[in-house]
Amino acid sequence: MPRKNTPRGATPLAQPETPLHSRPILWLATVGSLLMVMVLSFSDPSATDPMAETTQPTEPEMPPALAETAVAVEVSVVPERPPELPWRDFTVGDGDNLSLIFNRAGFSDTDLYRVAASNSDRSLKRVYPGEIISFQSDLEGELLALRHVQSPLLTTLYTREDQGYSATDIVREPERAARNVSMTIDTSLFLAGTDAGLSDAMIMELAGIFGGVIDFALDPRSGDTIHVVYEELLLDGQRFDDGPILATSFTNRGETFDAYRYTDLEGDTSYYNEAGVSMRKAFLRAPLDFTRVSSNFNPKRLHPIYKTQRPHRGTDYAAPHGTPVYAAGDGRVIEAGYTRPNGNYVFIQHGEQFETHYLHLHKLRVKKGARVKQGDVIGTVGSTGAATGPHLHYEFLVNGVHRNPRTVHKILPKARSLPEAELPRYLASIRLPTQQLASLRNAQQLALAE
Ligand SMILES: [Zn+2]
Repeated sequence: MPRKNTPRGATPLAQPETPLHSRPILWLATVGSLLMVMVLSFSDPSATDPMAETTQPTEPEMPPALAETAVAVEVSVVPERPPELPWRDFTVGDGDNLSLIFNRAGFSDTDLYRVAASNSDRSLKRVYPGEIISFQSDLEGELLALRHVQSPLLTTLYTREDQGYSATDIVREPERAARNVSMTIDTSLFLAGTDAGLSDAMIMELAGIFGGVIDFALDPRSGDTIHVVYEELLLDGQRFDDGPILATSFTNRGETFDAYRYTDLEGDTSYYNEAGVSMRKAFLRAPLDFTRVSSNFNPKRLHPIYKTQRPHRGTDYAAPHGTPVYAAGDGRVIEAGYTRPNGNYVFIQHGEQFETHYLHLHKLRVKKGARVKQGDVIGTVGSTGAATGPHLHYEFLVNGVHRNPRTVHKILPKARSLPEAELPRYLASIRLPTQQLASLRNAQQLALAE
């Protein structure tokens, strides 16, 4: 994932330094020191500001800059040490590695080895695209310090010492801000979420929370409503990432599902409904990436080619070639192969009673005998076998008998509930978010009534 924030590496005073150093002495010979100071003032007004140094809290080692330089010039002494040692930033690109970056910066693999040897943590073990590596050289061009900006929250600073380098992690804590959003579905959850300003990741998280109770490919209807109470993470007052969804409510065709985030006594965090029943069910309602399903409101199934010979006993999801298909639940692949009617297909056994079938796949991603977890990608949507166009044909069998996947959840075993003894703790923890969801619902009803 590319990082969003790009901290500035080079210090602002670095650039004007060189010309201001060489010029002043010549000027001093012919003009007075007073004029000298004026020239300096005009060439970089901010630099002569006595406050300039204190406005750079991230550069505590910053030397006293130009006001003092001017004084030094008056007595015709050039400072021994230049006031600045610039940082040079290198952004990690795709396919980059540290050796390439060090070489680009003019350093050797030996330098890299010496720096990396100072730290056994993750920093510099691997670099990821979007991260920033900044180099600071001494006057001889030797590596003085290095910064590895791993994220807006974590920078590792390497500083040269007598023996090698020392590493220090600079960690920032984001502020958390409470947020909420209400939306009404017009065409799809994805569009409603995007219009409401939610990130793709947040929309996928919502779909994940409700994935056991709502088929986001086929269930949503125009007028469905969603409320979300969540956190936003801020750095310096700016949003830099989503925090968790704390509570959310989805009303689908008049039926409302509420979900609350809760960390149980064992330390596991998950979502539960208002009665403490887990939102995570044994089976996903839609075993594919719903965001790719072409139309959320066209549940008319494709015409099966073998209509007369073979009753249609599954659900068809029209979706583009390549759309990821998920294992609907934990289980074992009992068939993965090709037949003329099925095309590329996968059958999964779940426990003793249940089987799910996935037909017409473009590519298979699992082999017979493999164990799969709910949500694992087992293949991609295609049009192999007797298919008129790209779609997933999905079947659900209970004790060997085909059931309608759209209604079978009603006869499936109940999801896990929180232990009775833990319920009071849970109910206390959801009191506030319950009120928040209620007030969002009220606000929306008032808005609709007007
Ligand atoms: Zn079908």
